[in-house]
Parts: sequence; C-alpha cells; structure tokens
Amino acid sequence: MSDLKIYNTLSRTKEPFEPLTPNHVGLYVCGPTVYSDVHLGNCRTFISFDIIYRYLKYVGYKVRYVRNITDAGHLEGDRDEGDDKFSKKARLEQLEPMEIVQRYTVGFHKVMELFNTLPPTIEPTATGHITEQIKMAQQIIDNGYAYVVDGTVYFDVEKYNTEKPYGILTNRKLEDLLEGTRELGGQDEKKGRLDFALWIKAGPEHLMQWPSPWGMGFPGWHIECSAMSEKYLGKQFDIHGGGMDLAATHHTNEIAQSQACYKVSPVKYWMHTNMLTVNGVRMSKSAGNGFLPEELFSGSHPLLEKAYSPMNVRFFMLQTHYRSTLDFSNEALQAAEKGLKRLWDAYEKLGVMSHGSGAESVDAELDEKVRGLVAEFDEHMNDDFNTARVLASMFELVPIINSIKDKTIPLSALSKETLTLLQTKFKSYLEDVFGLKPSNEADNTKLQGVMQLLIDIRKEAKTKKDFATSDKIRNQLAELGITLKDEKGGDMSWSAE
Ligand code: AMP
Ligand code: ZN
Repeated sequence: MSDLKIYNTLSRTKEPFEPLTPNHVGLYVCGPTVYSDVHLGNCRTFISFDIIYRYLKYVGYKVRYVRNITDAGHLEGDRDEGDDKFSKKARLEQLEPMEIVQRYTVGFHKVMELFNTLPPTIEPTATGHITEQIKMAQQIIDNGYAYVVDGTVYFDVEKYNTEKPYGILTNRKLEDLLEGTRELGGQDEKKGRLDFALWIKAGPEHLMQWPSPWGMGFPGWHIECSAMSEKYLGKQFDIHGGGMDLAATHHTNEIAQSQACYKVSPVKYWMHTNMLTVNGVRMSKSAGNGFLPEELFSGSHPLLEKAYSPMNVRFFMLQTHYRSTLDFSNEALQAAEKGLKRLWDAYEKLGVMSHGSGAESVDAELDEKVRGLVAEFDEHMNDDFNTARVLASMFELVPIINSIKDKTIPLSALSKETLTLLQTKFKSYLEDVFGLKPSNEADNTKLQGVMQLLIDIRKEAKTKKDFATSDKIRNQLAELGITLKDEKGGDMSWSAE
C-alpha cells in the first residue's frame, strides 16, 4: 500500500512496514496515568503518535488505535516499589480515587483536544479490565512463569529467560540487568531481583481493590497493557508505541507476559518516541521541571516571555523527528511561531490561486522543481515519519508561492496540474497529516476586523438616518449573542456572550 519504513526498536533498524492483515493496522499506545495533569513531555509522545495515526490513515490503512487510560496499578516506582499513585493522591486531596481519575482524564482529553489530536478508536481503562488481567495472570501461573507469595503474583524473570531472552527489546543480557538492580533485602518475598508483580495484594487501607483467586488486590501496571492490547488487537498486532523511557521495563515486561501467556511475540513493530527535555534534562514530574500545557497557553511560566498557542506548540514539536530529543525553550518556541506563520500565510495565499483562462507559459524547470519538492512530502514521511524533513521541503516551496503571489513569478509558470497538486498536498499535509489549524489568534483578528466593519456600516447608516439598517445590524448580532453598545460621542463597542 505504501513504501513506509518504520524504525523498530526490537531490531534496531528501519524495516519496511507490512501489516499482519493487509490494509489494516492495529496500533497500541500506552496512555497516561491519570493521577495528575499531563505535562508537555507526555503531550509530545501523544502528539507524535497522533501524527503516526493520521499518516497511516492518510495512506489508506484502516487503523484501530487503542490508547489506554491507566487508572489503577501504577506504583510510584516502576519495579513495584512505593505507594499506588492513585491512592496516595486521593488521600492527599481527600477525594475518592475515582474522583482523581475522572478529574485528570477530563483534563487530559481537554488538552488533547486543544492540541487537535484525534481521539483513539478505543480508549480502555485498567479498572474496566480487571477480569482480563486476572485471567492472564492465572494463565501465566499455569504455564509455569509466575508464582504466588502471600496474595501477590510475581513473574519469574529468570525462569522465563532460560527460554526467551528477557532483555530482547533493549538488547541487554540478563546478567547486565541483574547487575543494575539492587539486591533483594531480607524481607523481600520475590525469588529474583528482576521479578515483577502481575497482581498485588492489597492491605485493608488500600482504596481500590478487587477479589481475585489470590485474595483482595489490584493489578500490576504492566499486565494492564498486555491484557487490553490482546483483547482489542489480538495476541499479535502491528505497532506498539510509547515514550522511550517505557522500553526498558514496562514494554520489556509486556513482551515477557505475552510470550509466557500465549507463546508468541506480541508486537511486530515497537516504536519509541524520544524525550522532551528542558536544558537537556528530561521533563518529568519527579525532576520538578514539568510544564503544564496551560502554562504555555497563558504564558504564565517563568521561563516564557509570552503565551504560545497550542498550534504553535504542536508545530514546534513537528520540527523535530520523533526519535530525536527535543529541548524546550522560549527561543525555540518563538522561532516555531514565526515559522508556522510564514508557512500558514503561504498556505492561505496558495488556497486562493487559480489559473485563469489565459495561455500557459510553463517554466519547465520551475514546474519540475515544485513537483520534486511536493513528492518529497511522502518520501520523508515514508522514511520513519520524518516530519522535520517534510517541513524543510515545504519551506523550500514558500518563497516560490510568495513570488507567485507578488507576481514576480507569473502563475502560468506552473502547469495547472502542478498547481493543483501543490494545493492539495499542502492541504492534506498541514491539515490532515500534521493536524494543524488556523490559530484562534488569526480567527480573532478576523473577527475583530469583521466587527469593526459592521460598526462602521452602522455608524454610517445612523448618520444617514437609515434606522432600518442600523437596527438590523444590532438585532441580528444580538441573535448571535453579540451585544453592540452605543458609547458617548457616537462610538460603539461590542461584547460576545
Ligand atoms: P505516564 O503518564 O507517566 O505513564 O506517561 C505517559 C507517556 O508520556 C509515556 O509514553 C511516557 O513515555 C511519555 N513521557 C513521559 N515523559 C516524557 C518526556 N519528557 N518526553 C516525551 N515523552 C514522555
Ligand atoms: Zn503500557
């Protein structure tokens, strides 16, 4: 269907993309842990996969996109240490854990909408799939790869590794992994240091718990994604994604669980996005350098000189390939803002260009150049979704578009076909694949202009004593929820509901 190549973390190479079922793609992305607001780093990962989802659809695949909501089971440490993130926050804020979940799920959706990311086709929650997770844990026990200690179920990593390489995803040997992990303490109930919990026994104080064959408890974080991806995409599916930080533990454990349960490698292409950093340090809640999207949109963050619209931030992210780190700074955002404006202006100019009936005097060289640059859009996206290079090709087209607009180059220098191709590809890429839209700022400027025009017409009408027109303007605007107010000295102001 396409010449798409995807960098697969598992093979550490770019591989031709061949879905398991022709024309269909199963895509699973680890969703947010909804115990706090998402920071901009989280957003980078979700926006990257939004572009990937959009591009797969654009080239014609039917995509089932599953992105879960982690609303239980995620402990503070990735290796089963610490408190449950939800219970801790619920206690802190004196709320029900499900109030925490609801608050931050709603917040997450709002942010995703502001960034114009498409909703996944299925958004399952961990708490809605407890039965599936218990069933999977039981099967892993039955297959001999997990054991129960006092109501908690552990995955036996060393046993598994005798048959399958546990560290396959990040290409590390068990011995090396063991070296990097702390020794088991005297009170540890695990057999091996790398063993992780599939199911965790809950004490009476634990706020969210469910009955299981091993007593009251709650699921481990890793089993959640294995159980839900299997339920909606099958035992083997095409693409599994998430941030790079998830590869070494969460995704490594997902592979081990699915292999131990179903005896197959669950995912054909593992994709990992690189981190958003601030002064070179990964943005994370624990590092205390997490920006809330809201702080960008309002400009309230101390590192920022002004507010940036969601589309500016989205564009800022698109300018870097998803597998490179992206460092956040006021300057970088400012540059992105200028870039987006230049590109969008060119796009708007392009939108109103049309060939007249006059004779064509095609400049073959220019025509060829434009066609070549447009063809690069798909080539770069097919090269592991390289949005940065697509934008570079687009920017090479901008001066040509501007020159046509200024009439330095006649429109007829491009053939009709080339102009149409340029217009449709710009539209498809900017709007459908990159998910950009005119910023509210631009809309607001337009609205201000239109309102001023109506006010001027009304003033003129009043001067001419044409009250029918002046009333019509006022009444019809009122119907739209816009109030016109006559000020002193014949001036007028307006306000919207
Ligand atoms: P969490 O809610 O912590 O489970 O994270 C949700 C997603 O955001 C995961 O895919 C993480 O890998 C990703 N993520 C976390 N921090 C960053 C960051 N600084 N840059 C990019 N992605 C991140
Ligand atoms: Zn996951």
